[in-house]
Amino acid sequence: MKKLVLLLLLFAVNVNGKCLICESNNVESKYAHIADFVQFRIYGTDSSIVEIKTSLIHCKDCGFAFYKKRFNEDEERKLYDDYRGESYQKLRQKYETWYTKEFNYSLGNSEYEISLRTKHLLNIVRKRNLDIKSLLDFGGDKGQFIPDEFNCKKYVYEISGIKPKEGIISLQKMDGMVFDFIMCAHVLEHVSDPKAVVLTCKAHLVGGGIYI
Ligand SMILES: [Zn+2]
Repeated sequence: MKKLVLLLLLFAVNVNGKCLICESNNVESKYAHIADFVQFRIYGTDSSIVEIKTSLIHCKDCGFAFYKKRFNEDEERKLYDDYRGESYQKLRQKYETWYTKEFNYSLGNSEYEISLRTKHLLNIVRKRNLDIKSLLDFGGDKGQFIPDEFNCKKYVYEISGIKPKEGIISLQKMDGMVFDFIMCAHVLEHVSDPKAVVLTCKAHLVGGGIYI
């Protein structure tokens, strides 16, 4: 699991060796190679011809690990546009043979995973007796991880362009909007600036709102 998380932490503008989270300089840097698939998808170059190098930085203070090379907004879009769509899957399987059509489909669509995650979230909300009127799942795919039991306005903020589930409104912009409850799962490891995403979510919460 730890390995997978590290492999996903592929992003950034120049960070000058400072920790992206706690800004500590107490970091250790190691040579790293960008995944061949990611390199081709973003830069259109094959790593067997041109290798784009980076470093894996590990913060000794907070434990966060990330790649020094961070993607800009345009590069992030190139990677996540039609995320897990047909062309994404085909290209990825070309570089990573295990990434089959079936495997691709299973991600985010497994009944078991959905029920586990929604149950967990329901428990948290019920324990705290929260009255949620508007909920946002930031980077929430089709909105399948929002429990059906929540009787509130439901939104996802999603850049992939995927069609949301019935009853869910997909947003590409959140200008002027606020929510009582914002959830954000399996997202921070995919973005260039995780701290900025947390601060953005905070800015879109009503006073006393919950971010999880
Ligand atoms: Zn740190």
